Amino acid sequence: MTAPVINPVDPPSRVVRCYHCTRDCRVSIHAMSSSCPHCHRQLAIADIVVRARHWGSRLQTCGKILLDRKADVRVNLLTAGGGVEVHGSIRGKIVSFGPVTLGETATIDGDLQAPAVYVSPGATILGGKFAIAPVTPV
Ligand SMILES: [Zn+2]
Repeated sequence: MTAPVINPVDPPSRVVRCYHCTRDCRVSIHAMSSSCPHCHRQLAIADIVVRARHWGSRLQTCGKILLDRKADVRVNLLTAGGGVEVHGSIRGKIVSFGPVTLGETATIDGDLQAPAVYVSPGATILGGKFAIAPVTPV
């Protein structure tokens, strides 16, 4: 015996932008990861909070990335679909589809590409090439 289906609804979903191909994908709001229907690569969706040393090649998510005061991040590439908030230290290239906020304790050293950057007094920018423009779909 099967239960009757009354008013079937689509599972709740939201649209995120793929950080590989920059195209929009619909994902379940409960998903922590997914794969892009356009380029078929894996996507991390959950927000990332870094509170300590993180040295690696990449740090990527469709969500937001928060580096707190104790964060010490060295990566080749940090990509965030939802924006980046920096209160700690990062060395590496940042690509964000959302605004980047540099808090008063932030130190960054690397290229930055984002639609907007907010720099608090006290933030340290050691170097890198900045491109402040929307990241357009390919
Ligand atoms: Zn993609």
